[in-house]
Amino acid sequence: MKAMITTGIQKMEMKEALRPKPEPGQVLVKIEYCGICGSDVHFYKDGRIGDHILEDDIVLGHEVSGIVTELGENVTQLQVGDRVAMEPGIACGKCSFCKSGLYNLCPEMVFFADPPVSGALQEYVVHPADLCFKLPDNVSTMEGALVEPLSVGLHAAGMGDVKLGQSIIILGTGCIGLVTLLACKARGAAQIVVVDLYDKRLEFARKLGATHTINAKKDNVEDKIKEIFSGQGADVVFETAGSIVTIAQTPFLAKRGGTIVLVGQASESKVSYNFAEVMIKELTIKSVFRYRNSYPVAIAALSTKSIDVKQIVTHEFEFKDSKLAFDTVIKDAENVVKGVIRF
Ligand SMILES: [Zn+2]
Ligand SMILES: [Zn+2]
Repeated sequence: MKAMITTGIQKMEMKEALRPKPEPGQVLVKIEYCGICGSDVHFYKDGRIGDHILEDDIVLGHEVSGIVTELGENVTQLQVGDRVAMEPGIACGKCSFCKSGLYNLCPEMVFFADPPVSGALQEYVVHPADLCFKLPDNVSTMEGALVEPLSVGLHAAGMGDVKLGQSIIILGTGCIGLVTLLACKARGAAQIVVVDLYDKRLEFARKLGATHTINAKKDNVEDKIKEIFSGQGADVVFETAGSIVTIAQTPFLAKRGGTIVLVGQASESKVSYNFAEVMIKELTIKSVFRYRNSYPVAIAALSTKSIDVKQIVTHEFEFKDSKLAFDTVIKDAENVVKGVIRF
């Protein structure tokens, strides 16, 4: 089979690799779509994310879907030919976090394209059958690949406990900002304010359901928020930009008694933060690490059309053009909202 190997900083080439055999409990999946995630791009562009350093050749890609082509022993829940979305993280299933359902916090987690673990930018991948979720007929494999980023948005909106009629602010309109928007809209948020530095991105957010947009390059965000919410902030503020500036802004944008959900990870680990503002307003701060138990929910939301995630895809590339795909995402950050690779 063919595998797309990242061999160094901004180096990627197609190589021959052995097609894996499914072990008991696993299935072999022929990959159909792989989304390009910000984390993949970081590893490709800089060879690292923070102190997580790429030391060897690696196959990137963790937002994947495909078709089951072979069953390992004891697999009864799937059949050859099933189209599946693949949840990329394999937790131990034995620790207290796993047993209490918080498996995204499992210290033994093995995750696609998290060095040294290989990802899915290759023709075939073996994976535990219980992490391959069968797609209904009306959900495409392209949407199947987008279940992964959508899961982050659903988890974030869930942590924020967004309710019908509430007001929301989302800082950042990258893929995660937009899937958070879709998740909040599906939960019935009434006012959704989106903040970014690019007008094109803000326009895109409006198409997806943002009721107000603020360009932080042109306007003072705090003033604008006060204007929109008659002097108050929003019920829930989501930080998805992962910048120390926007993280520090969050307590000033939340309403008294409101909630802040930190989703984007800044490259700096220490951020100066006004805790007096948090305490005066009795704010709740929550954080999000990936997601848990969200694949069935995401797939149901796509199947019932509660969420239309494919709208975020702006660029589609062929597998052989994976390098071009990554280079385009880097060069044209303003226009590429979400790029996907088709096999
Ligand atoms: Zn991702
Ligand atoms: Zn565990």
